Amino acid sequence: MQAKDIAELLNEPACTHNTKSKSGCARPKPGATAGGCSFDGAQIALLPIADVAHIVHGPIACAGSSWDNRGTRSSGPTLYRIGMTTDLTEQDVIMGRSEKRLFHAIKQAVDSYSPAAVFVYNTCVPALTGDDIGAVCKAAAEKCGVPVVPVDCAGFYGTKNLGNRIAGDSMFKYVVGTAEPLPVPFEAQRPGITVHDVNLIGEYNIAGEFWNVLPMFDELGLRILCTLSGDARFHDVQTMHRAETSMVVCAKALLNVARKLQTEYKIPFFEGSFYGVTDTSQAFRDFARLLNDPSLTERTEALIAREEARINAALDPWREKLRGKRVLLYTGGVKSWSIVSALQDLGMEVVATGTNKSTEEDKERIREIMGEKTKMITDGSPKALLGAVKEYQADILIAGGRNMYTALKARIPFLDINQEREFGYEGYSGMVELARQLALTLQSPVWESVRKPAPWAKSSVPGIELGA
Ligand code: SF4
Repeated sequence: MQAKDIAELLNEPACTHNTKSKSGCARPKPGATAGGCSFDGAQIALLPIADVAHIVHGPIACAGSSWDNRGTRSSGPTLYRIGMTTDLTEQDVIMGRSEKRLFHAIKQAVDSYSPAAVFVYNTCVPALTGDDIGAVCKAAAEKCGVPVVPVDCAGFYGTKNLGNRIAGDSMFKYVVGTAEPLPVPFEAQRPGITVHDVNLIGEYNIAGEFWNVLPMFDELGLRILCTLSGDARFHDVQTMHRAETSMVVCAKALLNVARKLQTEYKIPFFEGSFYGVTDTSQAFRDFARLLNDPSLTERTEALIAREEARINAALDPWREKLRGKRVLLYTGGVKSWSIVSALQDLGMEVVATGTNKSTEEDKERIREIMGEKTKMITDGSPKALLGAVKEYQADILIAGGRNMYTALKARIPFLDINQEREFGYEGYSGMVELARQLALTLQSPVWESVRKPAPWAKSSVPGIELGA
């Protein structure tokens, strides 16, 4: 990938900071890839496409760094969970045979698994030695009769976020628009209801949480052509250009796909979230607004009224337990504003939120939801997080899995909110799960017992405690 292509991806015109001030998206700083390199970002964005063979072209350690680290689920094929790599060694580099290895790896993947397509992820070593993965993919596609898509995402190009965009760019360049959607199935057709085709971009179906929302799309007559990329199939991505509207789900990572669909195929998009009652209802309203179908608007309002009444009744007992509890939120991939809104729906007080990975637009939304005096924290080190818990007297830390041991060692209740979690929180019913997990965490009897001074901390000298 050339420097000008990277610069283009880093200046995504659809980001608000670029439309307002042309300041450009944040540039990677030396050492900033510690949270994941571009290859990592590209692979986690595309790995959930379930019927594709994902081959990492590079030393085996690259494949290990990002394989299956997002708890995304598939309702069908499980091919995406098989880690494939060309496993380059020094000998391959010295002998100049890494392109040949890639070609054979693609052929082996096709012969062994008959995938719908093969994605090839470039990494640092072959990018530095100058492998032409585009040419190899083209030759392999001709030989095997299966689409082979190069994703040129060498780690040193930049951050994980840049990798997400490279992934989106590759999909747009090589996949979107290469097939037509299937006709609407007979059983999905209902008299007097127009079925609208939509896309969801940046929805990863973590812990299968999107399946909480999917039945409501069916009920409203919204057919999802593609979720890029949770529980997606290769053919879904090929047909994205036929949608009537797109929703960018929470993340800005694949915003370039939404923007290109808008400019090249006139498909409007909006950004929304399925976390929290308020945001879930708003997402459905935004679909109805953009699709401009009065009958859909009517059905949407009826669905929202029914679901909100049902879920508010189900949440009431949990709200009793959670009301007024103070939360310190430090999310990674999941957008803070979206979770803040969900916690407020439960009557909890978010005392501070992490904005390390938030865009300027995210911060603006957080201010809108939490007020101008919002405490935003950018330092996610264990020391800073524990200091913030103490300073703001938080009852619970909600953060990514890597912070779990920090919280537990400090005997602070902790809930994992990021991609590795086991529970799905999307949609109306996801809110009940979130409330249940919060209550279980806060009310666990373990806190009382671990917060007592340890027996060995008692001093033999009367009146002196050795510490709790
Ligand atoms: S692509 Fe480069 S930075 Fe990323 S894991 Fe591989 S060697 Fe490391």
